[in-house]
Amino acid sequence: MPYVWSNWSGWVKAWPKSLLEPATEEELAASVRIAEGPVRVAGSGHSFTPLVESAGTIVTLRHLSGVVDHDDAALTARIKAGTTLRDLGPMLFERGLGLINQGDIDRQALAGAVGTGTHGTGIEIGSISSAVAGFRLVTANGEVLTANRTENPDLFDAGRVSFGSLGIMSEITMQCRPVYVLEETGGRMPIADVLAQVETLRDTHRHFEFWWFPFSDHAIVKFLSETDKEAKPRRRRPDGEETRDDKIFRTANEATRYLPFLRGPLQKYMTSASGRYSTSLSEPGRVRWSHDAFPSDRNVRFNEMEYAVPAERGPDCIRELAAHMRKGGVNFMFPLEYRYVAADDIWLSPFYQRDSVTISVHQYHRQPYAELFADAEAIFRRYEGRPHWGKLHTLGAADLARLYPRWDDFQGVRRRLDPGGKFLNAHLKRLFGEQ
Ligand SMILES: Cc1cc2nc3c(=O)[nH]c(=O)nc-3n(C[C@H](O)[C@H](O)[C@H](O)COP(=O)(O)OP(=O)(O)OC[C@H]3O[C@@H](n4cnc5c(N)ncnc54)[C@H](O)[C@@H]3O)c2cc1C
Repeated sequence: MPYVWSNWSGWVKAWPKSLLEPATEEELAASVRIAEGPVRVAGSGHSFTPLVESAGTIVTLRHLSGVVDHDDAALTARIKAGTTLRDLGPMLFERGLGLINQGDIDRQALAGAVGTGTHGTGIEIGSISSAVAGFRLVTANGEVLTANRTENPDLFDAGRVSFGSLGIMSEITMQCRPVYVLEETGGRMPIADVLAQVETLRDTHRHFEFWWFPFSDHAIVKFLSETDKEAKPRRRRPDGEETRDDKIFRTANEATRYLPFLRGPLQKYMTSASGRYSTSLSEPGRVRWSHDAFPSDRNVRFNEMEYAVPAERGPDCIRELAAHMRKGGVNFMFPLEYRYVAADDIWLSPFYQRDSVTISVHQYHRQPYAELFADAEAIFRRYEGRPHWGKLHTLGAADLARLYPRWDDFQGVRRRLDPGGKFLNAHLKRLFGEQ
C-alpha cells in the first residue's frame, strides 16, 4: 500500500514516493541533497492549503524534537524545529520560560507554525513568527545556513514566514519571556456593543477576541489577562476525546447539512450554550499558566479561510461579511473569529508593517466550502486583506505581489537558494508565478 499523507481537515492528500524521517540535522541535510523533488516538509499537517502536497518527497521532523539549550539573560531558547507547541510548553516552563503568544491550538510543530505566520490575538503582540530570534536552514544542496538579525539578515527577513519554500528549518531560536499566568474571562455580549467598544476591549486586555455566529445578535467574547493569582493545573484531553459541547456542535452541523433552515435557530442556541460558563464579564475566570491557558481542543473538523485586514477596518469588514452570510443563502454552521495582531517586519508576513485584524470563516469539513469562501474572499479583498498562508484562498502571484511590498526581494532570495525549484510543488508554483 502506498503511503498517504493527509492534512488535519482531510481535504488535502498526497502520495509521495518517499517519506523521510531524519533524526539529526546531518541526516536531514544528507537526505535533502539527494531527495527527489518536490521536497515538502510537513509539520503537523494543520494547514488547510496544499503546502505539504508532494508526489516526490515528504519530510517529517517528528524525531527532531526538544529544547537544545536556553539563555536566561536573553530569555531565548534554541528549539529543534519538529517540536510540537504542546510538547514545547512544559519544556520551556521547566526552564522558567513561556512563549510570548500562542494561537487557538498547540498541535502544530514549531516550524510549521512559524512557517505560515501563525498567530494568537493581542494588539501589542505579534505572530509566533515575529518572536523568532534566529534559525538554522537546510537548503536545496544540503548546506546549513544560520540566519538572525546580524547573520544573513536578508534570509532572516525572508525566511521567518516562508512555508518551506527556501529550505527546511532544523532549529529555531525563540524569544520567550519569564513564565506567566493568565486569567480567562468573557461571555456573551451583544454584537452591537462589542463593535461599538471594540477598541476599548482591545486596549484594556492583553488578549481579546470574539466569536460570532452571524445569525445571532450576540458574540462570545474572550479575554486573557495577566494575573498574580495562583494557576490551577489543566488536564489536557487525549486526542479525539470529545466534550459534551463538541457532541452538541457536531450534531448541529450534521443537522444543518440536511435541514439548512435550522442554521439560524441553532446558531442562536450555540451562542447561548457557549457563553454559559461565564455570563457576566466581571466574573472571575479560569487561571492557568500561559501554555495551558492559550490552547483549546478542536474536535469538530472544519476548513477555514482567514484574511488579515488593516486593524481600523476590522469592524466594518466583519459587519459586511456577517450581513452577506445571513442574506447569501449559503449553508454554514460555524462562527466567525475576530482577532488582533501587531505589525512586524517579516517580508511575507500578513502583518508586514500593518497592525491587523484577522477574520476567519470556517466551514464544517463535511460541507462544501467553495461558494462560502469565494463570497468571503471578495469582501476581504475590498478591505486590502492578506490571506493566512495556511488557510484557504485563491490568490496568485500578481495579487500577492501587490499586497507585499518586499515580494520581489523574497523571490530573489528564493531563486538564489533554490534555483532548480526543488521545494516547489504545484501550489507554490502558482503562488510564485512559476508555472
Ligand atoms: C484546528 C486548527 C486551529 C488553528 N488555529 C490557528 C490559530 O489560532 N492561529 C493561526 O494563525 N493559525 C491557526 N491554524 C493554522 C495553523 O496554525 C497553520 O496552518 C500552521 O502552519 C500549521 O502548523 P503545522 O505544524 O501543522 O504545519 P503544516 O501545516 O504541516 O505546514 C505548514 C507549513 O510550514 C512548513 N514547514 C513545516 N515544517 C517546516 C520546517 N522544519 N522548515 C520549513 N518549513 C516548514 C510546511 O512545509 C508548510 O509549508 C489552525 C489550524 C487548525 C487545523
